[in-house]
Amino acid sequence: MPGLGGQAMTRARAHGRSTGSVLEIDLSAIQTNYRRLLAELNGVASAAVVKADAYGLGADRVASALRSVGCRVFFTAHLGEAADLRAALPDVEIFVLNGALPGAEADLAALDLRPVLNSLDDLDRWTGLARSLGRILPAALHLDTGMARLGLPPSEIDRLVAEPDRLDGVALHYIMSHLACAEEPGDPMNEAQCHAFEAARARLPAAPACFANSSGIFLGPRFHFDLARPGVALYGANPTPGRSNPMAGTVRLSAPILQVRAIDPPASVGYGATHKIDRPARIATVAVGYADGYLRSLSSSGRCHLGGYDVGVAGRVSMDLITLDVSEVPAEVAHPGAEVEIIGPNQTIDQVAERAGTIPYEILTSLGQRYSRTYTGGTP
Ligand SMILES: *Cc1c(COP(=O)(O)O)cnc(C)c1O
Repeated sequence: MPGLGGQAMTRARAHGRSTGSVLEIDLSAIQTNYRRLLAELNGVASAAVVKADAYGLGADRVASALRSVGCRVFFTAHLGEAADLRAALPDVEIFVLNGALPGAEADLAALDLRPVLNSLDDLDRWTGLARSLGRILPAALHLDTGMARLGLPPSEIDRLVAEPDRLDGVALHYIMSHLACAEEPGDPMNEAQCHAFEAARARLPAAPACFANSSGIFLGPRFHFDLARPGVALYGANPTPGRSNPMAGTVRLSAPILQVRAIDPPASVGYGATHKIDRPARIATVAVGYADGYLRSLSSSGRCHLGGYDVGVAGRVSMDLITLDVSEVPAEVAHPGAEVEIIGPNQTIDQVAERAGTIPYEILTSLGQRYSRTYTGGTP
């Protein structure tokens, strides 16, 4: 008996922990996107930002695929993410954007991870460790040119210019900064930040510069410097909003129809009874909900794709379910078990984000853990 139960359990897990929803991640599309960015960079190198588990797509798999097409520098947000990545990729350069928390410096050094030093205090703690180890320790230095989030503010840059010895013991692999408005090519802030970055660099010891995120790469060669730092474009979001997307889609999310019911008016669908039925309708219930990252803000606004038909979310998104109006879809297409495309070529992450009133970053990083995940491609 325990054996049989075990087999059933294994089968259930294989079925995406039995929600039936499948997230397909196309590693070759991610590789294609990396090459596409390199073409835009025209000779300048590119790192890859794989924070938040590579924006929800799986940092190990994504980083390995990118490594095999030549990417050698990776950025994570946290030490834990970097440590996991180090276990998968022993021979790449890994930076931790959030830097070393006080007390974590030795752990970074032990795993050959490089902090992004975001303040003079970060710098002093890193050089302190370098002194105590009697080694030169690599790092990146982050200058704040307008985000007011992380990085040395102008006053600390001035202090460092006056006290350059504070850098003793650090091998500055990169000096970096981060754009606030890169997806708005006309925003004067881009030029202002670029100028502030160049001016600050000129006052500091020479080191390669790392500046552009995904959208920054499309602002032109002045923004490229020595190393780009894209994230979201690798994963298929449009880095040039308002223009056609130069990137390839990388994810396809599908979920099965559980039930289809014919409903006569007057009736309503779902929580809050927000979707009113005022003529005979057919409603399909699909196994995906806000607990899977199908944001509740897609209530009555989301669109899905089913056998060549574009269908809308009827009423509220529930935790594990959505309801679609399939009145216009033939019954032989909209039936229990039929696969609905939630995200994919017909409903891109940019389109889903727009309908949800958010950005594709949030759609990707919300993708749930209950999907069965499949990876395709990835070998060069
Ligand atoms: C997240 C992040 C990036 C990547 O940004 P995208 O817009 O996803 O390309 C680059 N640099 C820093 C500092 C970041 O926090």
